[in-house]
Amino acid sequence: MTIPNFQGTVLTSADEGYDDARAAFQLAGWHRPDVVGVASSASDVAAAVRYAAERGMPVAVQNTGHGMPVPADGGLLINVSGLTGVAVDPGARTARAEAGARWRDVVREAAAHGLAGPNGSAPSVGVVSYLLGGGISILGRTAGHASDHVRAIEVVTADGTERRVTADSDPDLFWALRGGRANFGVVTAVELDLFPLERLYGGALYFDAEHVPAVFAAYREWTASVPDEMNSSIALVPLPDLPMVPEPLRGRHVAHIRIAYLGDADAGERLVAPLRGIAPRLVDSVRVMPYPEIGTIHNEPDVPMGYFTTHALVGDLPQTAVDELLRLTGPGGSDAPRIMEIRHLGGAMAKAPAVPSAVGHRDAAYFVAFLSPLVGGLTADDVRDFHDRLDAVVAPWKLGHALNFLYGANATPENVRAAYEPGDYERLVALKRAYDPSNLFRLNHNIPPA
Ligand SMILES: Cc1cc2nc3c(=O)[nH]c(=O)nc-3n(C[C@H](O)[C@H](O)[C@H](O)COP(=O)(O)OP(=O)(O)OC[C@H]3O[C@@H](n4cnc5c(N)ncnc54)[C@H](O)[C@@H]3O)c2cc1C
Repeated sequence: MTIPNFQGTVLTSADEGYDDARAAFQLAGWHRPDVVGVASSASDVAAAVRYAAERGMPVAVQNTGHGMPVPADGGLLINVSGLTGVAVDPGARTARAEAGARWRDVVREAAAHGLAGPNGSAPSVGVVSYLLGGGISILGRTAGHASDHVRAIEVVTADGTERRVTADSDPDLFWALRGGRANFGVVTAVELDLFPLERLYGGALYFDAEHVPAVFAAYREWTASVPDEMNSSIALVPLPDLPMVPEPLRGRHVAHIRIAYLGDADAGERLVAPLRGIAPRLVDSVRVMPYPEIGTIHNEPDVPMGYFTTHALVGDLPQTAVDELLRLTGPGGSDAPRIMEIRHLGGAMAKAPAVPSAVGHRDAAYFVAFLSPLVGGLTADDVRDFHDRLDAVVAPWKLGHALNFLYGANATPENVRAAYEPGDYERLVALKRAYDPSNLFRLNHNIPPA
């Protein structure tokens, strides 16, 4: 089949290539769209949106498939992964990243000019979706929410128009796109700020299972006193006994502290010293590192997999709650492998941005996430009750959700609503009515127009 004025590839389930074009990083969910349009340009995106709008077909969009909110069943899936252009303007300290660019592309191009952007923990994640969802940056306590660094957004809205949206040109739409994600159009490129940053003091500290309670307790206390230049998180990870895992960590249930400090190295070393003093480290890679090595701090796997994850943004996380979480997820706590992660927020993330956006819960002190790999035949239904118990532990301090981490069965209308401040959600609904009254863009973290 064809889409008028569409130069890329159009596929239906009858075509070879359909499966590749709808495949996502998240293997627990598959899109089953009626049509996939693999775009080769922004004009293709506009042609596809017009085609769908004329036929009342819902539109979904995908880059890497790292963050599939709901599977696109039926409708038109626009695959933007081929639009990978990244251009850095070193004088203006900005980058323009197309819809298919990943953070590793921006990191590489920016580093050539001694610059860096507000990327997250995994360089393989797509730039556009991460920014539209708020973006909890690995530099967040120092640099703020990643979406606060967006200067311009090129987007195709539901009427099929290609627009360049800025705070001056369309203040309402610019506000809504930064936080409202795929609800207001298909973004074809973003322009964002870069910072001068060639090196940082960062890396990972790994501790063995017997030290897990002491490490979590000391980490939590330590976060109360560190400056905004200190960005960190901690994870509890059962590592498989496989050759891909480095020998000192293989088959161990470890506490993994991640450090990204943006002050000078001596100050960083003094700040990290109390953590180093908790217990012997299995691995200690905290050092002055070139910025392009940023992905080694979290060292997240880069191979597609199935997983179920829940999370909360919390205003506080008392030690009693951490103890209970460790009792449930810690070494010996459960049969299936569970990953628990606590990211320290606050600092610049808690400050009001220069240009307001729809991103909510800036007052969160921590981000707490639980992840169950869906391996060996395990399904989301098998692990849901366990996640409910974990979520209940943090519920008393929960402020809401971060859109970037609401996937699959967890991307319910209630949870989407809980990503926003109540007044902001009502404003998003009103803007959705204005820009997408027929809810063409509904195969996403949907904000219904009514
Ligand atoms: C290993 C890992 C680490 C992560 N670390 C972080 C982190 O540190 N901080 C953080 O904030 N998030 C993080 N995330 C979450 C990540 O930001 C989201 O999953 C994000 O949606 C991924 O974007 P993508 O383009 O890679 O994925 P996709 O699945 O391709 O996109 C996700 C959704 O975004 C929307 N979308 C995609 N492209 C467009 C577009 N061009 N226009 C409009 N809407 C679009 C669509 O609804 C799409 O379904 C992480 C995810 C993973 C898997």
